[in-house]
Amino acid sequence: MKQCLLCQKRIVENFSFKWLFSFQTSGIKQVCSTCINSFDSLKGKAVCTGCGRPGNYQNYCTDCEKWVTLGAAELLCNRSLYCYNRQMKEYFERFKFSGDYYLRLVFQKELEAKLKENYHKGWLFVPIPVSKEVFEKRGFNQVEGLFENICLSKMLSVKKISKKQQSLLKRRERMQAAQPFELTTGFEKEIKGKNILLLDDIYTTGRTLYHAQALLKKAGAKKVHSVTLAR
Ligand SMILES: [Zn+2]
Ligand SMILES: [Zn+2]
Repeated sequence: MKQCLLCQKRIVENFSFKWLFSFQTSGIKQVCSTCINSFDSLKGKAVCTGCGRPGNYQNYCTDCEKWVTLGAAELLCNRSLYCYNRQMKEYFERFKFSGDYYLRLVFQKELEAKLKENYHKGWLFVPIPVSKEVFEKRGFNQVEGLFENICLSKMLSVKKISKKQQSLLKRRERMQAAQPFELTTGFEKEIKGKNILLLDDIYTTGRTLYHAQALLKKAGAKKVHSVTLAR
């Protein structure tokens, strides 16, 4: 008997077309049709060509325009699988903050299918890292969990800020602080001329991904795009 990872009900093989369609690439059903249908898939929907935000936009959405105004050298091309709706918010609360690590399995196959479909050749897959403090508290990096079966190049690390430095910065300043990432030692030479696909769990303001893009571009990356589970 196969149980739904989200509601623990038995998965009955009496599936809807939508449910079947969403898993036809994987063949593995981790969640029941009721649960999967409560997420808002962006598959086939109109999105911003920049950040993948759902909606009909002439050029780019207001978020992307803001990045242009802020002087982003190049707009990040981001694509996401799902809208960040209430159900997705609850999913992340359970997965990230309650530490239900098995929930990484819910979307793994769909994420793998997305990479296979659109980024199958010539891309390096780079996960957004978490700080040492977060890792110790949470016990895992949720992004690496979601992309567990993908060959990842962990070339980004979170810069270490000393307690003293941290206390000198107010929260607001910390939020806007410069580059939070640095290159992991040993990767410097691997970046030049490469196409890099950043992987993250949620695209919110884009700040994290834009910081990562800027660092990798500076290190000589040819192209930097991104894929996230939710937008
Ligand atoms: Zn369910
Ligand atoms: Zn946009």
